[in-house]
Amino acid sequence: MNNSAGQSDKRTILVVEDEPTLATAIAQRLTAEGWTARVCGDGASAVQAAAQLKPDLVIMDVMLPVMDGLEATRRITASRPVPVLILTARDDESDKVVGLGAGADDYMTKPFSMRELIARCKALLRRVERAKVIAKNSENEKVLDFGELVIDPSQRIVTMHGEEVHLTPTEFDLLTTLARKPKSVLSREKLLEEVWDWVDASGTRTVDSHVKALRHKLGPDLIRTVHGVGYAFEPPTDDTER
Ligand code: CA
Repeated sequence: MNNSAGQSDKRTILVVEDEPTLATAIAQRLTAEGWTARVCGDGASAVQAAAQLKPDLVIMDVMLPVMDGLEATRRITASRPVPVLILTARDDESDKVVGLGAGADDYMTKPFSMRELIARCKALLRRVERAKVIAKNSENEKVLDFGELVIDPSQRIVTMHGEEVHLTPTEFDLLTTLARKPKSVLSREKLLEEVWDWVDASGTRTVDSHVKALRHKLGPDLIRTVHGVGYAFEPPTDDTER
């Protein structure tokens, strides 16, 4: 894109990390990329700062004083949609992070390389831009009606048995991507590319965690695991009312 919006295009990233050395290192790296970085050391001040700053992206540590990172993420994303990259201490925390539906779009396990962090940030920021284009293109996209499950891409609403199900933006994009091709197997790599706009396949666990979260919200049978390959959307059968 070569519009001439200039300075107003400068991205603001909120870094929430209580380890000062790490927080400073992240902020410096983000600034070097040409972004504006603001650091908060606890969850409560992060919620306040997010309301004032309206950041384009939030990098959030899980273990924080005053209010933990998941609760802070939940509050921040409840008031305004913003991509959140969560920093976890252990890899096995990732399912919990995504599964809690706190609004995390991606996560990284410490320790991580700054290069990787920047790559993830760029992908998340690209996703936001792309989501706007997709939303524009979906304005006239017809509703995906599977009986008990209805997906409305233009309104970004999912209903199950007539009741709206709250999905995070990432969950919605993942579900819609799968549901557009019922019964087709999509590889993790393909899903990463389509939903997360990743250029490499280093984050396939992110896909797995989000599929788990979707199954938790919509039932275990909608998304089938094809071992060693990926996932497929299985339209619900209408006669299994219970
Ligand atoms: Ca911490």
